[in-house]
Amino acid sequence: MTPSYPDSKVFYRRLDRDFRLVASAAGATIVDESGRSYLDASGGAMVASVGHGVEELADALAEAARLGFVSGAQFTHRYVEELAQELAEVLPESLQHSYFLASGSEAVETAVKLARQYWVEKGREGKWKVISRVPSYHGNTLTALSLSGREHYRKIFGPLLSEFPRIPAPDTYRHPGSDASSGAVLEAAIQENDPETISAFIAEPIIGSSAGAMVPREDYYRRTQEICRRHDVLFIADEVLCGMGRTGRWFAFEHFGVIPDILVLGKGLNGGLAPLSAVVAGRQIVDMLARGSGYFNHAQTYSHTPVICAAGLATIRYLKREGLVERCAAMEKPFFERLEALREFEVVGDVRGKGLLAGVEFVVDRTTKEPMPRSDRFAERVTSAAFENGLIVWPNVGHVDGIRGDLVMLAPPFAVTEKEIDLIVGLLEQTLEEVSE
Ligand code: PLP
Repeated sequence: MTPSYPDSKVFYRRLDRDFRLVASAAGATIVDESGRSYLDASGGAMVASVGHGVEELADALAEAARLGFVSGAQFTHRYVEELAQELAEVLPESLQHSYFLASGSEAVETAVKLARQYWVEKGREGKWKVISRVPSYHGNTLTALSLSGREHYRKIFGPLLSEFPRIPAPDTYRHPGSDASSGAVLEAAIQENDPETISAFIAEPIIGSSAGAMVPREDYYRRTQEICRRHDVLFIADEVLCGMGRTGRWFAFEHFGVIPDILVLGKGLNGGLAPLSAVVAGRQIVDMLARGSGYFNHAQTYSHTPVICAAGLATIRYLKREGLVERCAAMEKPFFERLEALREFEVVGDVRGKGLLAGVEFVVDRTTKEPMPRSDRFAERVTSAAFENGLIVWPNVGHVDGIRGDLVMLAPPFAVTEKEIDLIVGLLEQTLEEVSE
């Protein structure tokens, strides 16, 4: 029997369907209680970069659990110290100090507060606004959602959201030569809002599901960072999805020759084992607080606690020891070469991404790039048909104009084999044949 609402007492994420019960998971495979197996080509929600069921990660969590709860207000402990150190070793010298939290949304909000406190301590009290982009996704809590360019997530909650300036995100598929793709729209937004009110610019260096693994022009962040510096605006890189090796470098900003002032991490940081995110702050920011009030005016019960930090520590050590970030980079070529086969389908308008992060965009017409009518629910239909075929992909809709735009994301574990990539592509082809009929 598959549990479903209202018989099960779980308030499910969907109340209009049932969920299969997971029995076990290993590597890129999840098995349900009936014995059916699924190839997890999206790491759940682009999270399980190290794959499922890694024993040593589970053991590390169990060991930290024996320490019980340790409050970050009273003590430090080895898991948080060693995790910050392991991260510092792969981070640039100017970006070294990590504040640990639970979800990506929390970390985004914390980064926004940190930027604000920095300016207040610097005597620039007028600076509070954060410029974000459309499309984008920074989380589902209220400020993170206010910053997100994802209309269908925001619609019902409009009255609860705060107003922040938003600019178009670069779109190298539909508008490669536009001001948005060159970053010039940022300068205009800063001027329009008065630079003395702007605290930060937040962006996902390689855009996650909200734009289907969109990789901006190579000079985009150098240009936007130069604009930010000129107007005393901090650059917050939201790498909750694209960070921690997913694009073939430890951090996606490395592809663009820039270093953010504040970095936000989540998802792949924790191996999918515990809710762990991080805000990594630049030295000039932490120093400003250290010399000023002496503390960051923020606190959450579970920040810096042992079990969540142990998840991050075991994950980062595993990634380093197994050379998985390098492996992710090496797999980019075979991954995208195989995915190119999908272009044989008329509905596939674009296949893009970096490392082991890919977006496959569906269109009505490849020449005009006209998006699918939303009433077709194409991305959702592909996702459920793929699931029935034993393949897990992640859908996204609305990136073109807030309503239209259909794509699926692929983000397999870094240890995915070429054989598994062939299987992923084969199952996706079979699914597209069925759905396009
Ligand atoms: N930022 C980005 C880029 C994300 O992709 C997400 C989640 O998908 C978040 C923030 C929010 O993270 P969480 O769902 O852990 O709150």
